[in-house]
Amino acid sequence: MDITHRAKLVDQSVLSPSTRWFRFESVSAELPFEPGQFYRLTMQDSRGTFERSFSFSQTDLLLPKNQFELVVSAVAGGRATNWLFNADLGAEVTLQGPYGRLLLPEPPAQKLLLIATSVGLAPFLPMLARLQAQSPEHPRLVHLRLGVRSPDEFLYEAYLTALHQQYSWFDLSLFYSRQMPEQPDPWAYSGYVTEGLSAETLDAATDRVLVCGNPKMVDDVYQILRSKGFGPKTVVREKYVFAAQERTAKPKASSAADAALLQEKIKQYTTKQRD
Ligand SMILES: Cc1cc2nc3c(=O)[nH]c(=O)nc-3n(C[C@H](O)[C@H](O)[C@H](O)COP(=O)(O)OP(=O)(O)OC[C@H]3O[C@@H](n4cnc5c(N)ncnc54)[C@H](O)[C@@H]3O)c2cc1C
Repeated sequence: MDITHRAKLVDQSVLSPSTRWFRFESVSAELPFEPGQFYRLTMQDSRGTFERSFSFSQTDLLLPKNQFELVVSAVAGGRATNWLFNADLGAEVTLQGPYGRLLLPEPPAQKLLLIATSVGLAPFLPMLARLQAQSPEHPRLVHLRLGVRSPDEFLYEAYLTALHQQYSWFDLSLFYSRQMPEQPDPWAYSGYVTEGLSAETLDAATDRVLVCGNPKMVDDVYQILRSKGFGPKTVVREKYVFAAQERTAKPKASSAADAALLQEKIKQYTTKQRD
């Protein structure tokens, strides 16, 4: 049975010309989630109530469990955009979840390729924090390919570049589709996230790919990966479809049995990481 939580907006800030960061706090309970999962938020405006899905994006593993963070991209004339971008602190939403199977692979992949455009980065942020906390020096490789339009849209730049500089397991590639930085870093490329993907060293037997964001990008990436021997079991895709498209593919709520299975998998994964 779905549990509906209530939460109020407690903080927000501007991340880039098109995106904002929000922190909410549940007034009643903890909000269970595994890095990569999303909740469905219900908001109310002058036309009534409406739902939108958002990935939890917190990187602070010590964030109280009744709080969550969102990274939201503005859509012109969008209802959720209007609600969120104009909300005062204290504004309330209700939410249900967690949903989604965009999770860290179990058993861990030899190489984990994360591919996102814009706010499609959101679910990967808690994953990177989890990986960093679990085993800062693990021998496996994590490669993030992030697509943005321009340098001022490079979300979480400080966090991602620090991670890249600190840990040899974390590789970063930034793809600028409209405007390159004036002084590009070694990890900056011109074009879309699909640029050079067919030439990336990947082995479908040992490596796993998670893709999130713009539906067309997700399809384009998947097509390239298919030609490299990957398939539905080795690539997990999450499309940020619009609300109208989403209604036709409403996610199934996790049952208590699903949650128990997930916890067991996580326990096994954490134990393996410590060995
Ligand atoms: C599983 C899942 C997780 C998601 N997580 C996030 C997240 O973490 N952060 C985030 O910002 N979004 C996320 N989204 C998208 C989010 O749910 C909303 O669809 C988005 O915020 C737009 O909602 P809106 O109410 O502002 O626009 P709407 O009122 O739904 O749309 C207004 C108009 O704009 C069009 N439109 C809607 N979205 C776009 C778009 N992206 N590009 C062009 N036209 C568009 C619509 O067709 C409509 O005509 C997620 C979606 C899914 C399915």
